[in-house]
Amino acid sequence: MQHIIDRFISYVTIDTEADPNSNTTPSSAKQWDLANKLVEELKAIGLQDVTIDDKSYIQATLPSNLDYEVPTIGFVSHFDTTPDFTGANVNPQIVRNYDGGDIILNKEKNIVLSPSYFEDLLLYKGQTLITTDGTTLLGADDKAGVTEIVTAMEYLIKNPHIKHGTLKVGFTPDEEIGRGADFFDVEKFGCDWAYTMDGSQIGELEYENFNAAGVKLKFKGKSVHPGYAKGKMINSMLLATKYISKLPKDEVPERTKGYEGFFHVVHLDGSIEETNVQLIIRDHDRKKFKKRKKLVEKIADKFNKKYMKQFGTDIVEIEVKDQYYNMREKVEPVMHIVDLAEQAMKELDIKPLIKPIRGGTDGSRLSFMGLPCPNIFAGGHNFHGKYEYVPVESMQKAIDVIIKIAELTAEKYKK
Ligand SMILES: [Zn+2]
Repeated sequence: MQHIIDRFISYVTIDTEADPNSNTTPSSAKQWDLANKLVEELKAIGLQDVTIDDKSYIQATLPSNLDYEVPTIGFVSHFDTTPDFTGANVNPQIVRNYDGGDIILNKEKNIVLSPSYFEDLLLYKGQTLITTDGTTLLGADDKAGVTEIVTAMEYLIKNPHIKHGTLKVGFTPDEEIGRGADFFDVEKFGCDWAYTMDGSQIGELEYENFNAAGVKLKFKGKSVHPGYAKGKMINSMLLATKYISKLPKDEVPERTKGYEGFFHVVHLDGSIEETNVQLIIRDHDRKKFKKRKKLVEKIADKFNKKYMKQFGTDIVEIEVKDQYYNMREKVEPVMHIVDLAEQAMKELDIKPLIKPIRGGTDGSRLSFMGLPCPNIFAGGHNFHGKYEYVPVESMQKAIDVIIKIAELTAEKYKK
């Protein structure tokens, strides 16, 4: 266990915050610090063909120790952290034998991690938790995943009596800003399928995520002296709010869960002359997703028709762009890869929690790039903020799942 803690801490204390305003890959130069360290470490534990490209994507191979063919399986995680909260100077706190009470993260600032607010904590009574000191995120998303993959590979190398096929390791930058899959060389990876180790609570196994689109609306107004504006002024801000009021009121993130999709206004800025609105559309169901995209266009059309007579010009421009799709349609034809992960968990006495992701993962993009890629828990909770924590026992279980998947595959394909 100490081995896992030490490795995890060696990763989270390196700042790898992604930068959405940068056009380079990796988006922040500091991601190289951890990427280069990982390359050295993968070589040191004995993996083969350890490569890093000019964009910091890492791949490595654990060769098969079987004398028959089995599918090649990959394990993928990301080493960047979200720009939503600072990842600089992470100072992990270790709570051993957690007693189920409040954990004071920061006495001075009175920041407390409490089970009365975060009930999940009670699942981990008696376990070892790693928390923040209340001033940064932790980076378990997804350095827990990186830790688990490296440790599992190391274990397999040290225990050659455990039989397995060829296993591949893939680490990516910039997942948190939606670019993790952008330059992933699926062909070079050469896997039949893979798993991202990037879920949360122990047991999570996910192969469904949202279909996603982004919408940009530009409302064009006409500024005229307000005293003499009758019949002449167009106030683009009022048009924008009117537009938003036409969207279904209950279909917003704060009123939906499970498989319920939504429209979400993420940005609005305006003046009388011009108002820009950005929204995102999310839905697991492809048909409903299409309907939602049609609706935003229909409302824009109606606006243009309605105001054409009055103003003689289109008053709203709309641009709808697909962002990613539900990986379910790529995973369902190869459902045995989900069943395999589920079986691995059951054999390890982990209760599988199979549920749709209300978001996207690198795995959804990779699935559409030809690499079916469900998501497995990495163990952490409360990602992207100061209350982030990870039970070490969950990381150990994730390591066990990786090893078990390798073992089961070797058994299944035995002649
Ligand atoms: Zn993640």
